[in-house]
Amino acid sequence: MRPITPHTSFAGAVWPAIPSPPAAALLSILYQLGQTEHCLDAEIEQARRPQLVGLIRHASRHSPFWKGRFDAAGINRLIESGPAIAAAEWSERWLGLPILTREEVQELGDDLVIKDLPKGHGHIAEIVSSGSSGRPVRISRSTLDHLYWQAFQLRSHVWRNRDLSGTFLSILRDEQRPPSSKGVHMRRLGDWGAPVATVWPTGPSVLLDYRASIADLITAIREISPDYICTFPSLLLEILRVARDGDLALPKVKEVITVSEACPPELRELCREVLGAEMSSSYSAAECGGIATQCQAGTWHAQSERMVVEILDNGGSPCTPGTTGRVILTPLQNFAMPLFRYEIGDLATVGSGLCECGRKLPVIADIPGRARDLVMLPSGEMRPPYYGHNAVMDVRSIRQHQVVQTSPINICLRLVVANALTREEERFIISKVDAALEGAFQISIEYVESIQRQASGKYAEFERAFSP
Ligand SMILES: [Zn+2]
Repeated sequence: MRPITPHTSFAGAVWPAIPSPPAAALLSILYQLGQTEHCLDAEIEQARRPQLVGLIRHASRHSPFWKGRFDAAGINRLIESGPAIAAAEWSERWLGLPILTREEVQELGDDLVIKDLPKGHGHIAEIVSSGSSGRPVRISRSTLDHLYWQAFQLRSHVWRNRDLSGTFLSILRDEQRPPSSKGVHMRRLGDWGAPVATVWPTGPSVLLDYRASIADLITAIREISPDYICTFPSLLLEILRVARDGDLALPKVKEVITVSEACPPELRELCREVLGAEMSSSYSAAECGGIATQCQAGTWHAQSERMVVEILDNGGSPCTPGTTGRVILTPLQNFAMPLFRYEIGDLATVGSGLCECGRKLPVIADIPGRARDLVMLPSGEMRPPYYGHNAVMDVRSIRQHQVVQTSPINICLRLVVANALTREEERFIISKVDAALEGAFQISIEYVESIQRQASGKYAEFERAFSP
């Protein structure tokens, strides 16, 4: 990214600037990341070991569950044997530490939360995620963890060399849209928001709620004429198809950033054709933030300073380059709810070789999961399938869920439950899903034993079981 002077917090110290403490903290992390991304795996592993060991000690001290696991795997004994631990011995013990499944996180619940945080880690906030397997989990996160999260967000802007003076358009869900709102709902904002605008001056941004017809969204994009568009791949695909087939010229943009889902293979080419833009996407999870980020060369790099990323075969051994396995994560900075060797529910393919960008962080060749269909409204319009997923999370007996549109007017909630739901719980979920889908469908519940991934490894939290 071309040098941009940060906001200063001192009158008369405009250049070079002296940023405010929050911006300075973000920039100091970013400065270090700019160095570590050129380190080899073994060097990163060595550098992050004290962070990981500190987290293990904290978890062992405050959580009987984790103490039991680390004792059984011989990791606590190894740590106490002294600071010089051979890499091979560490690796052997680490691979002996059991994988933490989503079911375990669901069942252990608050037992995994550590309220006694080290000084300076701030408060605890809770987030919910269904991730890519439809199994809802609740994650507690500290203020400090959020700061790291933001620093890694900044890194993706730097890697992609984005022009911060441009106009940034997000086509996502705007929680501030009034329920009665019909048609296009957009909010124009003065800057790009945190964390970018915390650090640097930026151009304006626009938040465009996706709940409008594709034709209206296209009109809005033409009016806004953004430099960057950030949205769901499934929605973008629909917008670009309609624009191309209807001969509706869209303004040229610098880059398209997709979030939340895997990208259909044809999307990259369509972005070039219709918007004249390259596409990038982030691989992240609500539990831990960015897992892998795409550099300017389009390569996914694992964010090794943020978490230990393992890709394992069915036998539990690390996959070799070119092979696909389960993604196992150990986030390093969240002391409020440490997760060690957590199975996120995605599959990924190990990459090989060095990237042309020169960074040495591990390459992930492909992340085949997380594709999503659009819901088709009875009117024929297509929308991202927002069905009020937090309401489903609120019913704790639900272990896994999938929302299937079985016809133009029917939605079926397929549920795997630990205990039978009460009538009140069933009515609660149906009413919430009905409200989220704006009363457009007949909604029913079907109880099933399990919900499997498709053969491709994709898990569809929402599926449209018919073609328009
Ligand atoms: Zn690269």
